[in-house]
Amino acid sequence: MDGELSNPLRIWEDIEDCEIIPGDQIGKTLSRTSRDVPCLLKPRSIEGLRQIVATATKYQCPIYPISRGKNWGYGAHLPVQNGSTIVSLERLRKIGPCIPESNKIYLEPGVSQEDLYTYLKNNYPQFTFNVTAGGSDTSILGNCLERGIGYCRSRANELHGLQVLTIDGEFIQQNPDLWHPSHPEGIGAGWEGLFFQSNFGIITGGWFTLIPKQDSGIFISLLNADLDTLIEDFRTLYRHQVLDEITHIGDPGRKEYVLKGLIAKKFPNLSTQQIAKVIQQHGSDAFQGVTAVHGRTTINKARVREIKKLISPSTDLKAFTPRTVEQIASISRWIPFPYFRNLGIFLESVAELLKLSEGEPTNIGHLSIKMKGDDPNLAEESAVYLNATLPNDRNATQELRKLLDLGGYKYSITYIVDTRQSISAIITIHFEDEVAPPVQEALGHLTKALIEKGFPPYRSGIDQMEHLEMPLINKKLKHLFDPENLIAPGRYL
Ligand SMILES: Cc1cc2nc3c(=O)[nH]c(=O)nc-3n(C[C@H](O)[C@H](O)[C@H](O)COP(=O)(O)OP(=O)(O)OC[C@H]3O[C@@H](n4cnc5c(N)ncnc54)[C@H](O)[C@@H]3O)c2cc1C
Repeated sequence: MDGELSNPLRIWEDIEDCEIIPGDQIGKTLSRTSRDVPCLLKPRSIEGLRQIVATATKYQCPIYPISRGKNWGYGAHLPVQNGSTIVSLERLRKIGPCIPESNKIYLEPGVSQEDLYTYLKNNYPQFTFNVTAGGSDTSILGNCLERGIGYCRSRANELHGLQVLTIDGEFIQQNPDLWHPSHPEGIGAGWEGLFFQSNFGIITGGWFTLIPKQDSGIFISLLNADLDTLIEDFRTLYRHQVLDEITHIGDPGRKEYVLKGLIAKKFPNLSTQQIAKVIQQHGSDAFQGVTAVHGRTTINKARVREIKKLISPSTDLKAFTPRTVEQIASISRWIPFPYFRNLGIFLESVAELLKLSEGEPTNIGHLSIKMKGDDPNLAEESAVYLNATLPNDRNATQELRKLLDLGGYKYSITYIVDTRQSISAIITIHFEDEVAPPVQEALGHLTKALIEKGFPPYRSGIDQMEHLEMPLINKKLKHLFDPENLIAPGRYL
């Protein structure tokens, strides 16, 4: 046993069908944070995972389960604490069974957004799902477990019927005689919520909610130079149940950056000056909130009429369908006036982003960071995501900016408004690699300052977790499920 412990990798060698990647070969992350990690394990079966858990218990080795490890900006694949062996479940990629009558499908943790999209296209084309802007390769389960946010709604309540492996080697799941995916709450005490944003067990599968495709979809864009008026307009629309899908409000700086990237990607031959002209003519320097309505065509049209009635006079509404975007773009190619051609270029480029609302995963969201190649972890400029739930108070957005300006950060914010009328600010902090350590440290203070100000996070990165004072009950539950603290030590505790 001494020999095995002197080489930490040897204890995993007998695990069935499992790739072992030594710690020094584990790549860097978008947030440029680092951890000392003995190795990363990739089991190819649930049996292999069970053997990993048994070995971790035998040698008292902390393990850090991830689904696909694309938690970019929050620490990506890295564990919260040094010394944890990462266990990537990316090879557990089973999809199905699907129960179409209940809009549910069973997924393993390694299933990516692209995997599910392709599977549905080939097998259940009547369904779509709530995609995030994280990218095609991100995991569905990992994102749900972090209560991620999709283009339709939060993912916090989209995963049920979990199968969980606990550190004692036991699988926890619903009793199939007492539970059906169509009624996910089941009967009796609810326990599944304990495994979201926690470190009590390893989730090996669960039933994910699908969305039936609708007759039509209309994209809604509201523009206003005043952010608070725009937010209030969206809150009004949710209060009256005219809208039910999530709104993303981009700040003008971030919007312009993304627009430039979208146009350059779609029309690689355009010069920087031509791109700037398109944006000057058809982009706007106001705050812009984008959402969509899906359903029966007549109802959607009625919703657009109601939106017009309910928004402030200073807010500009644009409503368009994927088909109108296509038509205007194709007509514009034949009109010899640059203004119209530029409108076509603008719409064709933005259409890529709108695919997200239609349930099509894409990597287009990566244009919001300075990419170098395909992998956000290798981006030219580092980025850390913080987030803050803002109270419904007109000063909140200004207070937030004041705090960020005071710290001298280079930042951009996306505001997310949803049916609960809640406002989540997703803050991206950008910085050069050379200043990563001091910025990381300052972000700890910023996290605390945001909490003290009354702007709590809905989710946390690995460097920020130590600043969360979680309630005592979480520690008690951890002791119950994992008394030796072997699964993801430090995560949300
Ligand atoms: C440009 C850009 C845009 C983004 N847009 C969005 C967005 O629109 N919405 C959004 O929510 N996020 C977004 N993100 C953040 C992030 O990339 C996604 O949330 C991504 O889905 C998380 O990675 P993953 O799905 O591979 O999950 P993972 O990294 O695998 O999981 C996240 C964490 O959950 C825990 N976990 C995962 N699986 C298990 C398991 N099976 N058992 C126990 N614990 C587990 C682990 O602690 C893990 O660190 C974006 C990031 C970038 C760079």
